This record gives sequence, C-alpha cells and structure tokens, in this order.
Amino acid sequence: MSTDVIDLDQLRARLSELMPDIRRDLEALTRIPSVSLDAFDQAEIERSAEATAALFAAEGFDAEIVRAGGRPAVIARKEGPAGAPTVLLYAHHDVQPPGSEELWESSPFEPTERDGRLYGRGAADDKAGIMAHLAAVRAHGDDLPVTVVVFVEGEEEIGSESLPATLAAYGDRLQADAIVLADSTNWAIGEPALTTTLRGLIRAVVTVSTLSHGIHSGMFGGAVPDGLTALIKLLATLHTDDGEVAVTGLAADSASELPYDEPRLRAESGLLDGVELIGRGPLLERIWAKPSLTTIGIDAPTVDTASNTLVPSARAKISMRIAPSQEPMEAFEILKDFLLDRAPWGAHVEVALDDQGAGFAADATGPMYDAARAAFADAWGHPPVDIGVGGSIPFVAAFAERFPDAALLVTGVEDPDTRAHGANESLHLGEFEKVCLAEAALLARIAALQRP
Ligand SMILES: [Zn+2]
Repeated sequence: MSTDVIDLDQLRARLSELMPDIRRDLEALTRIPSVSLDAFDQAEIERSAEATAALFAAEGFDAEIVRAGGRPAVIARKEGPAGAPTVLLYAHHDVQPPGSEELWESSPFEPTERDGRLYGRGAADDKAGIMAHLAAVRAHGDDLPVTVVVFVEGEEEIGSESLPATLAAYGDRLQADAIVLADSTNWAIGEPALTTTLRGLIRAVVTVSTLSHGIHSGMFGGAVPDGLTALIKLLATLHTDDGEVAVTGLAADSASELPYDEPRLRAESGLLDGVELIGRGPLLERIWAKPSLTTIGIDAPTVDTASNTLVPSARAKISMRIAPSQEPMEAFEILKDFLLDRAPWGAHVEVALDDQGAGFAADATGPMYDAARAAFADAWGHPPVDIGVGGSIPFVAAFAERFPDAALLVTGVEDPDTRAHGANESLHLGEFEKVCLAEAALLARIAALQRP
C-alpha cells in the first residue's frame, strides 16, 4: 500500500514506543468499575468520566464533563492547523455489569494478561476504544494534523437515553467532517472491518382477549376459545414452516458476500445438535440485512400455578429486527396490520409499541471511506471488509440524525473472541496496536485529503 501521503514508518515507530504507556492507562481505566446500570454505585461513573477527561487534558485538550439529564460524558477538543478538517472520535466509558464473578478466570476489574489478551470488564468494550483515540492523538505528538474532538459517552450500555439531548445541547461543539465511532468489532484476528450496516429494532406488545373473565375449562372448553391459545395461534402466523418471517411488505436488504458457513454459525450461537436453521438466503443476509421476529416474553399463568381455566386474556412481547434501510414506524404499522388481520376466532387483538430504534446503512463511499480503508491497510497490510451487525447501536442512529453531512466510520477494538458483555471479556493486544496505528494513520490521511 502506498504510504507517500503520510509518514507511516514514523507513526508505527512512535506507537510501538507509546504502547506500554497506553497499556498502563488502559489498565487504570479498566480498574474503575464504571457500570452505568442504576443498581451500581454511580460514583464510579463519575470517576471514570474524570479519569477520561484527565487523560485528554494531559495531551493539551480542552476537556469538560457534560451531561443532559443522564450519566456524565466527556467532550474534549484540540485544535489542528488552521483550516484543517475536524474529526470527532466517539467511545464510551461505562461498562456492563460483570455478572457472576465465579465465571471469571481473573477478577473482572483487575486487568490480567493471558496468551496475548488483556482480560477485564471494559478492557475491550469500550475503554480500549477510548485508548485507541488517545493513542492516535499521542502518536502525532505536537503535530496533530487535524482538529480532534473527543466525545466519550457514559451511558451506552443502558441505551444512550440522554444522548439525543446531549447532542442537541452540545452538538455545535461536536460538528465534524468525519466521525469515528470506535465501539464495534473486527471480522477476525488479522481481518479488520468497517461496520457499514446495523439493523433497526421494533418491540411490540400484543394482547389477545376472548373472554370478560376466566371460566371453567370443563364447562365451556370445546366451544369457547381462550385467550392464551388464541395468542399462541396468532404468534404462530409470524413465521412460515421453514422459519422465514411471514409478515409481507417489510424491507429486506442485501449483505456483503463474506464467507460465513453453517458450522461457524452453529458454533458461535451454541445451536443444539439436530436443530435446524431458520429462514432463507445467505446466512449473513439473514442475520444482518433481513427482518427477524422473536417472541421474547409471554404473560400467562405459570405452569406451577395453572388451573383448569379458560384464560380470558394473554399477552406477548415481540422483538422485531428490521432491515438497515427500513423506517421503524413503517415496519411497526406493517406488523400491527398483519397481527390485527389474523386475529384467530374473532379474538380481540391489541398491538402496542414498546420501543423502536432506527438501523444504519452507511453510504460507504467517498474520500473519508477511502481514507479509512487506506488507513486500515496501513496497519494490517490489506484493506478492511465491510460488515453488518444484526443488532442496533442507538448512538449510531443518533449521530447519523444529528450530523447528516458527516461521514460516519464505525470501527472497533473487538474480535470474535472478545466476549463483550460476557464473563472473561478480553482485548487482543496485538490487534489493539494495529487499531491504534490505523486510527493514527486515519487522522494523517484525512488531513492529507485537503492537500493538493
Ligand atoms: Zn460498547
């Protein structure tokens, strides 16, 4: 790969000198148990915000802790040369709860290295994201080639609820030509990736009623339908016999043609022997680009307390992942009409929206994407693959909506063995150095876009 527009050898040499300090600072951040969930001590979130702000302040950034009704976020800014582009770097400093400590091979908040991986809650997701940004900045020393704005959120793991309010209040300070969102994953060890699509989400509650009150199943069963059986029949209409989503009219996008076979999917998902896959089409299309429907909860009498009664009413919560390009409320209306049209035996059906989130489909072309692909190639020796993620990342949609003109680059420090959110979360240290180098090269390449 051509490196004439940037001095790659110099960046690589500087970074390899800097990595021991980066590692030490990453470990210090990981020791702060900054779980954003309400049940945990929120003083720790304040500590991790302060520690994050201090790290950037030490590099000459104007760093400030801000909030808009939620957890503290950090905004830090350092000016590049006059007229240089502005790059916004996103990460989050809150973490998931550690879960049962017995499942961890080393204490979740005491970072520990084993076999080239650093174990700890947040060692990858997403304190390594913060440190990748810091490493990129440090690699340029006093010659920062672009203006850098850093935004480190404190509530990503609880859904980024106050993020739209924060972006509304502080958005003017976050305006940028490119936004690097470092909270996703690479495709494999040695295989970097840009995340270019995310599915959206609809969650709905469907209630099915047949009776004004519960009645004796022996007296009336056989002629009078019950609400629970009617609900089960209704839920069964959502899929065809081979498990394809039966709801018609929903968007279905296409996914990139990366190799991904059934044995890998079976292994990664823990599918039991003999259980068939559902749906149709290429596997990555099914999990990244097409809609999926899952019943995630049912309110009905429990098995232990059930009596011989025709249940008058029952309800279920349905989670629907939608194609990246699908507008969520449009998908909800389609789902709602589908369910109302299929009310079994004239049962009364109500469908209520519980939650919604937009997907993301990047226009992964143009000079910023070219610069990003070249920067990944600088670090790995070959360009990244485009991947999708089947879930939603609320902050990506929030940034896309607030900054429609900026190029959104969704990068990440994770790999398939990271186990973010699970026990024994870890960061691959060798890949992490490449992530840092790619980001340092990206800043230089974005600056070079302006030079003739
Ligand atoms: Zn994350």
